[in-house]
Amino acid sequence: MFGSMMFKDLLISDLIVHAGRYHTDTEIISRETTGQINRTTWGEVAISARKLASALETLGLQKGDRVATLAWNNHRHLKIWFAVSGGGYVCHTLNPRLHPEQFAFICNDAADRAIFFDKTFMPLIAGTRAHLRSIEHFIFMGPRDEDVLKAMPDAIFFDELIEQGAADYEWPQFSERTPCSLCYTSGTTGTPKGVLYYHRSTMLHTFAISMPDGLGLSSREVVLPVVPMFHANAWGIPYAAAMTGAKLVMPGPGLDGASLLELIDDEKVTLALGVPTIWMMLLAAAEKAGSQMATLKRNVIGGSAAAPSMIKTFRDKYGCDTVHAWGMTETSPLGTSNVPKGKFLDLAPEELFPLRLSQGRPPFGIELRVVDEAGQELPRDGKSQGALQCRGHWVVETYFGQETSALTADGWFDTGDVATLDSDGYMVIRDRTKDIIKSGGEWISTVDLEGIALSYPGVAMAAAIGAVHPKWDERPILIVVRKEGHDPSEGEILAHFEGRVAKWQIPDAVVFVDAIPLNATGKMLKNVLREKYGNMLIERGA
Ligand code: ADP
Repeated sequence: MFGSMMFKDLLISDLIVHAGRYHTDTEIISRETTGQINRTTWGEVAISARKLASALETLGLQKGDRVATLAWNNHRHLKIWFAVSGGGYVCHTLNPRLHPEQFAFICNDAADRAIFFDKTFMPLIAGTRAHLRSIEHFIFMGPRDEDVLKAMPDAIFFDELIEQGAADYEWPQFSERTPCSLCYTSGTTGTPKGVLYYHRSTMLHTFAISMPDGLGLSSREVVLPVVPMFHANAWGIPYAAAMTGAKLVMPGPGLDGASLLELIDDEKVTLALGVPTIWMMLLAAAEKAGSQMATLKRNVIGGSAAAPSMIKTFRDKYGCDTVHAWGMTETSPLGTSNVPKGKFLDLAPEELFPLRLSQGRPPFGIELRVVDEAGQELPRDGKSQGALQCRGHWVVETYFGQETSALTADGWFDTGDVATLDSDGYMVIRDRTKDIIKSGGEWISTVDLEGIALSYPGVAMAAAIGAVHPKWDERPILIVVRKEGHDPSEGEILAHFEGRVAKWQIPDAVVFVDAIPLNATGKMLKNVLREKYGNMLIERGA
């Protein structure tokens, strides 16, 4: 009596089958650890992924086993991603910038059985090997290499392993509710926690980010994910590129401004994605080289708030439209992206600009709400500020290895961010709960203060933190890195705040430093800054 539609589990292997079949000759460019450029295609990646998945079977791995990677964004890493998840194993992307102890803790916590590593990270592996309890196979991402053999006589070589695999390997079929990858949070506000993604959650996330109001991928784009594959799966770009047949440009270890600029200009990159610190370096390199980055039409900034001055520079100087996006490891990661709605398109550029500064609105599949301290939902009026919570098809429920749910009693995930939402769905991150400054009972947004500081010409980086104050509990202070060749004074920077925020929100002091400590994903380590400068107002006799 009833009709029916086909049911097919949503599996990661479907992506690489599609890309290999329908985008066979679309190029994948990557910078090797040697600095050389490698050129391959989706067709070749698809064959290699099959061969590698087949070879992994011969290592005796079981379905669901964790296979780790310690690698840059490059073509071998891409093949590993599809081989491991497609083969039914769990691809665990490790962050090489973590402290060795934290690195070993994460490997052991995940019980990784094999690890693929780029040459750059051999010292980290060699140094921590005695503490890596579960790893049986160490696979070097390259051809046979005598240096590697000297340090690790039992190393397996990727280029040899893959030759043992069968090109006619059939991708296994299983439930879409099977884990495919694992990523730990960078631990900015606590011990790193593992988020275990499923095939289904990843595929739905891939559809969503590919859409025009998501990150807008297509077979006409040349995409440069500067964001590492170990940072929340490079925000899902390798999957979305396979789904849409985009040309992919992988920067390898070349994350400095000049190397990125070279790739953008040589490969005619149209869309690039990364955290704010990357863009600072790229803008400086473009300025120095006199490049217009003519092909770069869009860039996505996320991970930390994008300063308004940076968005403006991309727009006015390079004709590049910045999509400001927000997300977390726990949200796969895309939660929101800022693409204007049709009703805003007639606005004059200067009217539209303020709307483009927010972190954007959620795609279908993500719901957001802000709540007060009692957990009561706040109005979506663009003003009421509260704890940001979300739920959806690609949001964590339980952290890896934990018994208890990470959600509130009514099934929402509390992000640890403080935000406002407006009636159009646009969200503004005001702060992280742990970073916001409370002065005399009033909240001050560090995001706002940093944005203003960065709009002063001589300021390269700025962190606003709360310093202990005997009368006001906390007062804002600014930690500033000057731009090369500039010498702004404390007085000049503070004067720049006048008229831009209420008087009582203007920081009490500016401290100049050579560098601001960053975490493993390029975020400012405010807890370290608070430890160092949190008492400075008291010491100054406030
Ligand atoms: P960790 O939580 O360990 O830093 P994540 O990379 O998952 O690792 O970080 C997610 C957090 O990054 C968010 O909760 C938010 O505080 C911050 N974040 C991400 N994107 C933005 C953005 N566009 N603006 C402001 N903050 C952002």
